[in-house]
Amino acid sequence: MSERVTRALGLAQVPAEAEHRIRLLRQLQPGELLIHEIYRSIQGESTFAGLPCVFIRLAVCDLRCVWCDTPHAFAQGEIRPRVEVVRQALSYGCPLVEVTGGEPLLQPEVYPLMQELADAGVTVLLETSGAHDVSAVDPRVHIIMDLKCPDSGECARNWWPNLQHLKPSDQIKFVIASRRDWEWTVHTIRHYDLQERFTCLVSPAFGRITPLEIVTWLLESGLQKVRFQLQLHKYVWDPTARGV
Ligand code: SF4
Repeated sequence: MSERVTRALGLAQVPAEAEHRIRLLRQLQPGELLIHEIYRSIQGESTFAGLPCVFIRLAVCDLRCVWCDTPHAFAQGEIRPRVEVVRQALSYGCPLVEVTGGEPLLQPEVYPLMQELADAGVTVLLETSGAHDVSAVDPRVHIIMDLKCPDSGECARNWWPNLQHLKPSDQIKFVIASRRDWEWTVHTIRHYDLQERFTCLVSPAFGRITPLEIVTWLLESGLQKVRFQLQLHKYVWDPTARGV
């Protein structure tokens, strides 16, 4: 594993936990992925919300957002050959496939995985934390990248050079847990002119703030091209349900 990945996994900050993550990923041979789950559901977020979508959830994340809704993917996964993952994802006959996590970009095989899915003609989405370089992602992939707000606890991990690598068709997501997060979001959008460059999405951290608060602040802010969103799947199914 490269020094960059070791550093990205946070070895210096939390040695025992980071070592466990490294051990999990070190088991992987070329051509293999550590997969938490693959399933078909509706897309709950982004401009693709509401569409049927196959989700490939990769295991392991190096961040610990306080409101994370997928901690079950942190430390468990099944080693699977990439060709088998592609075959299963395409077997649903669904034209939309999202690669998510955990943090997908921790696994080198994710790059050929996304390429092979795009080669097969499906629309590929990548959901990533914003803490890792996206410059090597296939340009056919629609990147949905978080910028972590202060109350996620992971704001310091935002990898700002990514803003130079995103395409106009990519999307930046802010999950808001407080008024402080909202003010940081507005400042960040204005400072980097993000609403003119990309699709910007704002959503409430589920259960920590009401949708009405975000909508009210959005309307007061004067931001005209920022899109409010809810995590649709949490309203259709039990918010704690997995695999939906
Ligand atoms: S980056 Fe995503 S998967 Fe990782 S801790 Fe944050 S919300 Fe959870």
